[in-house]
Amino acid sequence: MPMKATGPIPAGYSSINGELAIGGVTASALVERAGDTPLFVYSSDHLRQRVADLRGAMPQRLAIHYAMKGNPFPAVLEYMNGLVDGFDVASGGELELALAAGVEPSLISFAGPGKRDRELERAISLGVTLNSESEGEVERAVAIGAKLGITPRLAVRVNPSFDLKGSGMKMGGGAKQFGVDAERVPTLVKRIIVAGAKWRGFHIYAGSQALSADAIIAMQVQTLALVVELTAAIGESPPHVNLGGGFGIPYFPGDEPVDIKAVGAALGDAFDALPVSLTDTNFCIELGRYLVGEAGVYLTRIVDRKISHGEVFLITDGGLHHQLAASGNFGTVIRRNYPVAIANKFGAEPEEVASIVGCLCTPLDKLSDQAHLPRADVGDLVAVFCAGAYGASASPANFLGQGSAKEMLI
Ligand SMILES: *Cc1c(COP(=O)(O)O)cnc(C)c1O
Repeated sequence: MPMKATGPIPAGYSSINGELAIGGVTASALVERAGDTPLFVYSSDHLRQRVADLRGAMPQRLAIHYAMKGNPFPAVLEYMNGLVDGFDVASGGELELALAAGVEPSLISFAGPGKRDRELERAISLGVTLNSESEGEVERAVAIGAKLGITPRLAVRVNPSFDLKGSGMKMGGGAKQFGVDAERVPTLVKRIIVAGAKWRGFHIYAGSQALSADAIIAMQVQTLALVVELTAAIGESPPHVNLGGGFGIPYFPGDEPVDIKAVGAALGDAFDALPVSLTDTNFCIELGRYLVGEAGVYLTRIVDRKISHGEVFLITDGGLHHQLAASGNFGTVIRRNYPVAIANKFGAEPEEVASIVGCLCTPLDKLSDQAHLPRADVGDLVAVFCAGAYGASASPANFLGQGSAKEMLI
């Protein structure tokens, strides 16, 4: 039987009595606590350790923001609020979730094309910084500020001419729906200042899911060079610069974690070389999946085991409606296997090749294709790792009338 490798299981997961443990609690106990499968479990230990390691590697001058679109679960937001320096939201809905989690409005920035007037109004009245995506958005924000009698806080999202090499999703370089082309930015910033709005600086986001430190370093160096150039053209220093993010996590066989020490050292050198015009500028990065992705595990129960043409299929009560990315249908070209395990036989020797599928009536619903696993039967629990980002929030939960999975922070 052909076998396909699965991705690397993230560090920090151990076994207790032969069972996967998350935050010191076994998978079956977690399912019992939640009352049912499928279930997303997010580990607060993992989140805390991740942010601490990142801070240890990055220059002190760099603030760390959480870009929350990968995981807006309220308990995760509340926990992250105690760990990071700011939140980046990308819709009015995310803004409300951040506020409900207790995030201070002055620590929130709001990016995203197509902000509606009511979203701009809400953000401006709260004192949230808008990462302006176009000249038109700036004019609407200025007009809304005048109507409300509140000075809007406006940063400009720059569409850089470069992108993040080797990144999963390109968000800069060439024609894009995001940000304002770099050469038009000085004119727009001058317009913001003349209009009496508070200019908050730049937001420059060039891509996502890069594992190569060299690629991230090159992007950060290019970003800082662009900031220097724009600052000179404007003749005023940006109070704040969001350098973007793009740090990826290993999902697939052969993937290696980002060398954050190398990135931090290079960024420290780049900060040291900045001109005096940027001495008082605050810098941040905005990370989503890097902070939360590996902290999450998706647990689903096997409801059927069947053989077709000699191949074993383990059919679960979960599927792509919670795990679109693991099924290979969220921005991937070639389907490869995420890290998976039989949670109640964690660490047991693999005995057979089996495909783990979901309960949806579509052949796309595959959680793992021909993986080498311990023998599993009806009632056993499957764990899909790297489920902390773009799982629950980026999957079509209502497909086939299935509904959402349970979620829990431990
Ligand atoms: C999606 C997005 C992020 C987060 O991306 P991750 O890959 O989860 O780190 C950050 N900033 C912007 C502008 C985004 O669109």
